Amino acid sequence: MIFVLYCPEETQVILYDLETVPSAEQFSVEKYTKNQIQEHIQENHQNIQTQYGLSVISVDEAERNKDASGYHLEKEFGILDELDANDAFRDFLDTLPDEMAVQMLEGKDCTVEICFSGPITGGEDSGNLSAAGAYVTSWFDEASSTLYSRMVIDSTGKEVLERNLAHEFFHLMEERFIQCETEIYAVREGTAKETRFLDERDSDSGFYSDRKLRESKILDWDTQWMALSPEDSYVYSYDESFYSYGESEEDYVYFYGKDPEQVYFLDGYCRTFPTEDRARIFEYLYMAGNGEELHECFASEHIREKAVYLCQLIRSCYPSVDTSSRNIWEKALSEEDWARVHIGK
Ligand SMILES: [Zn+2]
Repeated sequence: MIFVLYCPEETQVILYDLETVPSAEQFSVEKYTKNQIQEHIQENHQNIQTQYGLSVISVDEAERNKDASGYHLEKEFGILDELDANDAFRDFLDTLPDEMAVQMLEGKDCTVEICFSGPITGGEDSGNLSAAGAYVTSWFDEASSTLYSRMVIDSTGKEVLERNLAHEFFHLMEERFIQCETEIYAVREGTAKETRFLDERDSDSGFYSDRKLRESKILDWDTQWMALSPEDSYVYSYDESFYSYGESEEDYVYFYGKDPEQVYFLDGYCRTFPTEDRARIFEYLYMAGNGEELHECFASEHIREKAVYLCQLIRSCYPSVDTSSRNIWEKALSEEDWARVHIGK
């Protein structure tokens, strides 16, 4: 249990109380002024920028250069939430392979912005959007010919922060799948001016050393993905009334007591759009790699097929992760599935 006494503009005292009340010698009192906390947050932003190439922007900046999501971002929220969210993001990035975030940006003319916000709510102009824990949106700015991707995180949603970070980060990672595929077509048609994504770098082992295998996973990746679920199972809407939460036998969604072999989706949300299905699988794999028990749905061969293909696709598009050791989202795979991911069968 953590007790926090927070006096705005003054001093903050944090006492860590483990199972019993410790004696005075057993605990330490840390004091920070608000300015010091702010400095720490700023330093963290700088590190994220220099180490990973991601720009951290304030809610004010996000409002000035508004995205089209329609979400309203709450500007006022606790500095301790901001501190925790920043540290959590930093910790999350540190669990990824070194160059992964940098490779995500390799189009050169793309900018990835991260915004730590207060609660995110559906604005008046957002149709039927409900509150969100986080979101990612992308747009192309003609004037600067820059592709912007923006990830906004509700810093106050502590219990789901790590899960949300993994989920949203996956949406950012997908941009490179598209770039890699486009480049393969351009190379084949002889129209590629330069190859930004397909340069052959040293790889420990795996796909990256086998160009043909690698290309076979990337080309038509969305069609390959669609083949892994029953036809017409995505509803292409975020409207909750369009997708089911596992109420019937035919909806392919997991619910308690259902035979895993009838299951293709971890939950109803996975049926909204293919990208959400992938992000959800990545999210669960990531959490399992970080100590959580793997969702029992992974007993379904259909879910495992998707998980294996997803891991293969990531390795095909990100040379830095295609090594002989397991990445954090691959740790919970069975030996058999891991072997397929690793050698590409
Ligand atoms: Zn999502």
